[in-house]
Amino acid sequence: MRCLAIDIGGTKIAAALVENRQLSQRLQITTPQDDSAQAMRETLGKLIQSYEGQFDYVAVASTGIINQGVLTALNPNNLGGLAHFPLKDSIADYTDKPIYLLNDVQAAAFAEYQFVDQKQTPNFAFITVSTGVGGGIILNGQLQTGLNGIAGHIGHTLADPHGDMCGCGRRGCVEAIASGRAIEKAAQQWETPCSPKEVFERFRKNDEKATALVHRSAQAIADLVANLVISLDIQHVVIGGSVGLAEGYLPLVDQYLMDKPHFYHCQLSRAQYAGDAGLIGAASWGACHMGV
Ligand SMILES: [Zn+2]
Repeated sequence: MRCLAIDIGGTKIAAALVENRQLSQRLQITTPQDDSAQAMRETLGKLIQSYEGQFDYVAVASTGIINQGVLTALNPNNLGGLAHFPLKDSIADYTDKPIYLLNDVQAAAFAEYQFVDQKQTPNFAFITVSTGVGGGIILNGQLQTGLNGIAGHIGHTLADPHGDMCGCGRRGCVEAIASGRAIEKAAQQWETPCSPKEVFERFRKNDEKATALVHRSAQAIADLVANLVISLDIQHVVIGGSVGLAEGYLPLVDQYLMDKPHFYHCQLSRAQYAGDAGLIGAASWGACHMGV
């Protein structure tokens, strides 16, 4: 079975044919920036037509929430004209093949889950610490999407009731404390402001402020991991994203987790897939639903 996999991000759209987790004919285009539903519909149409006759099903990993085939977001303002975009119907206008839709981090979680011993690890979570904080949860071997597509949005659980306001409208979410955007916001207020990348460079040189900022993020992620373990009996958490994979970050999360009582502990490891986790995860998840 050959999949046309599409990964819709805020700035770029990637597409490829995927078979047995192998990518071919990968291409990348810019996400329409005028935020109009019509522009997005036409872009998807051209993309699908360029692969015509070469796939058996379509699988999409997209930023935002996929609620019953409609693309939306916790903060619909983030999607501009694309809030409540009829993603499934727009694709169905160009192909009569089966269509499977997932949130991009849910898809990445499913991709990462293929690397673990699934018999030993029925319950698994993936956390991406990047511009935002996202997640995907697998319980009893099944990816959790939820009736409304929300399952796994663990970046919007509480980290600090006195923390900054989050983009979702709630104060003190993990994302408002631990994300690259949160790190950037704090570092912009320093005497010598710097980017998140520079924060990590300064952290590795033991700069006091940078170290405190990175520790605050890692501590929030360790608490998130502990909450998942104690709520859902998660055995293994994989961490990805530009912050999550920054040198020295995962050992810190591990250290904060190990400081807690043993029943909060679980296996922690780095994400294996880089940029193609969404494409591969959506394709693999679609394949499961196709019964292959
Ligand atoms: Zn939030």
